[in-house]
Amino acid sequence: MKIKFTGTGDGRGIPAVGCQCQRCSLAREKGSKNRRRTVSVIVTNKSDTILFDAPSSIGRVLNEEKIFHLSAIFLSHKHFDHIGGITVFEYWPEKILVYGNMSVLGNFEITDRLYNNCEFHVLHEKKSVKINNIRVKPFSVSHKVPTFGLIFKEDEKRIVHFSDKAGTILDDYEKRLVKISDIVVFHTPGFDGGTDHIDVVSVMDIAKRNPSTRFVITHIGHNNLSHEELVKKLKPYENIIVAYDGLELEV
Ligand SMILES: [Zn+2]
Ligand SMILES: [Zn+2]
Ligand SMILES: [Zn+2]
Repeated sequence: MKIKFTGTGDGRGIPAVGCQCQRCSLAREKGSKNRRRTVSVIVTNKSDTILFDAPSSIGRVLNEEKIFHLSAIFLSHKHFDHIGGITVFEYWPEKILVYGNMSVLGNFEITDRLYNNCEFHVLHEKKSVKINNIRVKPFSVSHKVPTFGLIFKEDEKRIVHFSDKAGTILDDYEKRLVKISDIVVFHTPGFDGGTDHIDVVSVMDIAKRNPSTRFVITHIGHNNLSHEELVKKLKPYENIIVAYDGLELEV
């Protein structure tokens, strides 16, 4: 199973429109790993392609990745930076399977065409969905609105995606999950003092306690450190990877 980080910025992305801060100016000029689209990942195996979240950048992502078939779309929650590109699927050439909680599925009547092109499936806490060989299990994470993280499991390999989890510590279920997983993804807009999301410093602490798990930080904001600064800061933590647009990992 593979996971590709197709967008690694927070709600604004980097460069953020209208922002003239140093980070955004640099990203505008030089690009490189400091240019981050709004957040999404694509999980694949031999037979299937699963999209997790559909932000405003998703049309470009599908074109650049040359993806013409999706087994399913999963949506974590209704915040616009996770679903703002969903209307591109109005014109998707096949009926698209959409999984999410009631709160996010309530947004699909934006257009009739989109509504008619989707087949909706409500996700329930810890009730797995099988996409052929990949088992996808949703679990609730604390955030401003009802939000699901997802566990992607194939054979004995697990990728856990926490989506916009708030708070700096893990509950007992999450702690166990982190221990038994191969890759764990956290959304860290900021370096420290997170409010609606976990921050990089808290992930450093979790990574130290779980040396045999690989961690990835993504959903990075323009107020966070630059990509190069983050990589330098996290050098002592061999099991934390700083995501960038296009990073692909395999389990
Ligand atoms: Zn978000
Ligand atoms: Zn900025
Ligand atoms: Zn959110």
